[in-house]
Amino acid sequence: MTISFKISENTKEKMIEYFEDKKRAKTPAYAIFQADEADTVVTLYESGKVVFQGVSADIDANLWKETEKHLNPNANINEKSSKEKKKKEKESLQVNPKIYYASTIGSDEVGTGDYFGPIVVTGTYVDKENIPFLEELGVKDSKKLEDEKILEIVPKMIQKIPYACYVLSNHEYNEKYNSDINMNKIKAILHNKVLMKMTTQFPNVDYVVVDEFAKPNVYFNYLKDTPSYRNITFMTKAESKCLSVACASIISRYVFIKEFDKLSKMVNTTLPKGAGDAVDQVGKQLVQKYGFDILEKIAKLSFKNTTKIKNI
Ligand code: MN
Repeated sequence: MTISFKISENTKEKMIEYFEDKKRAKTPAYAIFQADEADTVVTLYESGKVVFQGVSADIDANLWKETEKHLNPNANINEKSSKEKKKKEKESLQVNPKIYYASTIGSDEVGTGDYFGPIVVTGTYVDKENIPFLEELGVKDSKKLEDEKILEIVPKMIQKIPYACYVLSNHEYNEKYNSDINMNKIKAILHNKVLMKMTTQFPNVDYVVVDEFAKPNVYFNYLKDTPSYRNITFMTKAESKCLSVACASIISRYVFIKEFDKLSKMVNTTLPKGAGDAVDQVGKQLVQKYGFDILEKIAKLSFKNTTKIKNI
């Protein structure tokens, strides 16, 4: 049995004190200590996450949960047991054959976590007759596909699969969304855009599926001032459960890769993906070479990276 939850600083201190003499010689990466309490192995991480492992892990876990509650009555303990976790994972990966084998419109986006490069949102229509064709192409595990494979299969895919793709360039993003940013609202607006287009073109579809990034009521609240398509089936991990979402995800990535290459060529630098340290380093070099204005054309200025690049 494995139980883990997060604790506050004061409980952390108590644990460190209590386990001082029970600590093991070796400490796992990112951990403060690992210790033995009878049959239970206790690991406390720097992040405040604490893990109890063993047949009676629940007993020790409960004890420290009580301490946490006592010291921090307002903190919420986000407990996860391995059993619950596995059950949740399984549930979220379950394919509903009624939807998988139907004719669907699906949408997905790329680029919202990347400092450099645009945001790309695509909607596709997959007629159920094209399901074997897509399975043959290897579309099903879209998350695992490498860039090379994507560049190879998308030209084939779009010969049979109708789609609508919207690219929000860095310039447009920076003009519209400066400090007052809400990425989920941008996603909602762009998803709605491609869905409106696709559902007008293919009104007799069985399901319209969106890879869920916000709860449905939140999604529709973002669109309260916009004409919106409303008959949506929201699904988490939809790109593995619905082929139109998988296609949408793959086409979005294809377009993103192409746009990203163009930007890299423009600044004569291989731009890194994501929003980590490498991004800050390259950003700094680019500013030194071309001046600060270059970021407006190739990056999403509202990200924290902009401040970091300014201060390096
Ligand atoms: Mn997605």
